[in-house]
Amino acid sequence: MSDFNEAREWMVERQLAQRGVRDARVLAAMRHVPRDAFVPADVREFAYDDTPLPIGGEQSISQPFIVGKMLEAAQLRPGDRVLDIGTGSGYAAAIAAEIVARVDSIERDAALAETARECLQRLGYANVEVHIGDGTAGLAAHAPYDAIIVAAGGPHVPQALRAQLAPGGRLVMPVGGSPSRQRLVKVVRRGEHDYDEQAFGDVRFVPLVGSDGWPDLSDAGQGDHRAATAATTGMEPRCAAAEATTPGNNASNEAASTMQASTANHPAERNETPEPGRPLTLEAAIGVAAEPLPNLDSDQFATFIDRFANRRVILLGEASHGTSEFYRARAAITRRLVEQHGFSMIAVEADWPDAAIIDRHIRARPAPPSRAAPFRRFPVWMWRNAEFMAFVAWLRAHNATHAAQPERQIRFYGLDIYSLSESIEAVLRYLDTVDPDAARVARERYGCLSPWQKDPAVYGRAALSGGYAQCEEHVIAQLADLLKHRLAYEHADGERFLDAAQNARLIAVAEQYYRAMYYGGAQSWNLRDTHMFDTLRHALDSGGADARMVVWAHNSHIGDARATEMGRAQEELNLGQLCRTHFGDAAALIGFGTHGGTVAAASDWGGPLQTMTVRPSREDSYESRMHGAQIGRFVLDLRPGVHDALRERLREPLLERFIGVIYRPDTERYSHYAQASLAEQFDAYLWFDHTDAVTALPVSDGEQDGPAETFPFGM
Ligand code: SAH
Repeated sequence: MSDFNEAREWMVERQLAQRGVRDARVLAAMRHVPRDAFVPADVREFAYDDTPLPIGGEQSISQPFIVGKMLEAAQLRPGDRVLDIGTGSGYAAAIAAEIVARVDSIERDAALAETARECLQRLGYANVEVHIGDGTAGLAAHAPYDAIIVAAGGPHVPQALRAQLAPGGRLVMPVGGSPSRQRLVKVVRRGEHDYDEQAFGDVRFVPLVGSDGWPDLSDAGQGDHRAATAATTGMEPRCAAAEATTPGNNASNEAASTMQASTANHPAERNETPEPGRPLTLEAAIGVAAEPLPNLDSDQFATFIDRFANRRVILLGEASHGTSEFYRARAAITRRLVEQHGFSMIAVEADWPDAAIIDRHIRARPAPPSRAAPFRRFPVWMWRNAEFMAFVAWLRAHNATHAAQPERQIRFYGLDIYSLSESIEAVLRYLDTVDPDAARVARERYGCLSPWQKDPAVYGRAALSGGYAQCEEHVIAQLADLLKHRLAYEHADGERFLDAAQNARLIAVAEQYYRAMYYGGAQSWNLRDTHMFDTLRHALDSGGADARMVVWAHNSHIGDARATEMGRAQEELNLGQLCRTHFGDAAALIGFGTHGGTVAAASDWGGPLQTMTVRPSREDSYESRMHGAQIGRFVLDLRPGVHDALRERLREPLLERFIGVIYRPDTERYSHYAQASLAEQFDAYLWFDHTDAVTALPVSDGEQDGPAETFPFGM
């Protein structure tokens, strides 16, 4: 259990205190209440991740940060009487019970209420009473309440609840016009009929179902149905010490909606011919709007991009770092933008020194004397693959036709100016020699560096390994040194991308960046994307006012983070969002997706490349809706004014799959899916129903000495 204590400390510090929950009572209570005891055994390892988790009956335990925010807003004081609506697991009730005198908690799902009641009892919370019933009516018998907390989203604040607030009483509740999206609302009772009301923060809770809430849309209604669901999804054992996952438990992962979002899955009514007056299924509506695309080798493949040709920056995504179709499609689109529309810069999600070698190669400049061939470190296949190699060859040939006018040649940049892969490799090499345990922790953590590679159990371990912290200073110094060397080299090189002032600025902020990267948390994500954006702008500026650029990076970098769980729940920003904010309509964000096939990926950071089977997309995902349109390749235009009705439907959050360099099919839901609003995230979406792994190229010895025509990859 000590792992959990440490993980809990870490959660409170990093996910709550550092993100603005200030109330000392709430923080102390959350340090004390074992969230792991309130979740089913099969998701217990994720108990201290800042995410909702399934608890059976299609319900979920709330995200800790939101629980903290709500309880803080409720201004709980020691003598208070509190009403908690939506007991769920009982977790929020337990936290309140740590602070106040008495908690009444109402849950409409009898099976959930029973489990929560037992759990609270076993943990010794004698001041909580769990009631089964419709919380929208409150609990007049025990009113008034100093605070009322509602953990499910309703269309408005129920009248009965206002009336049951004591003078000065606070009510906090998610309110919204759709069952799946709300704003948190705080109501303070000032007098008999006098209420202050303010809204703060967008959230997504499960619906508040009741006489003064949303109607019950589940087919079997309440009672037996819910009890049956709970009984078959392995909710028990809860409230026990962590136990090995029992095989049958996995059902709860799949059956329950793990988000606080709507649990109303769209029925998969495929192949349906719409009846007059009846709305199309989402699959059918996508099918109508979809523009089928020809074969990737067709010269017509990329013509759809012409509608975006007047933009200054076009960002092309990918739904994995190891899919052939995504590379080939981006190459075809980029070729068209270069040949037909005058784009002359390409910037990719890669270490800047490696990309600089490609840049020299495609402009037929001599290879830098002192540098090895590029892209020799993990994840090697991300750029060292046949698809990218073919594109590099095309770039070189294209530039050769402008040999007399170097200013018309294409330039190629790496956006990771602090060299993420190179830095990680340096950290691992060092730790391997001085502290193998810390190195193991680092490998696991770097597997989580993309925001979607969640493995929260790892966080707790890493934050507390003493060896890890001891190595920090040395590692940071080493990385800063590496950077200085790179910059010195760049300075000595004839065509400088950075001037001395920029060098100084980079060095000044490098320490902060490397420190965050060393620990690999959310902060490092934000710093990395901010620096990628700075590099992008810098490169664009260096090309003059008319310069236009194509960017290749993962969907998680280029899709607007504000439209995803990552921005909404985890306060992470990204390159696409920064481009939209800065360039407005002069930026186009184009996402990619697939239903299934194979992908090149590893199981852990630094692990061997494998060709893995991509699981068919989940029923409750955008991918499954696209698949349902039954068109092998298509583009969806998501710009305002084009398919507005469909756009509206594609704003409703659904799960979206993100595969990076790591793929973990066994924990796919938690490791790779996140909620998103597709139509807000992208300006267009490119679909390949079936995709295959990239063809990785080997790293051979002595590459840098190879003859020019085999450079940069020595094939
Ligand atoms: N606070 C909980 C999270 C609960 S999720 C926790 O910490 O685990 C929301 C819960 O509200 C669900 O269990 C759902 O069944 C319940 N609920 C929805 N409508 C309700 C209503 N009208 N009355 C009582 N409970 C309701």
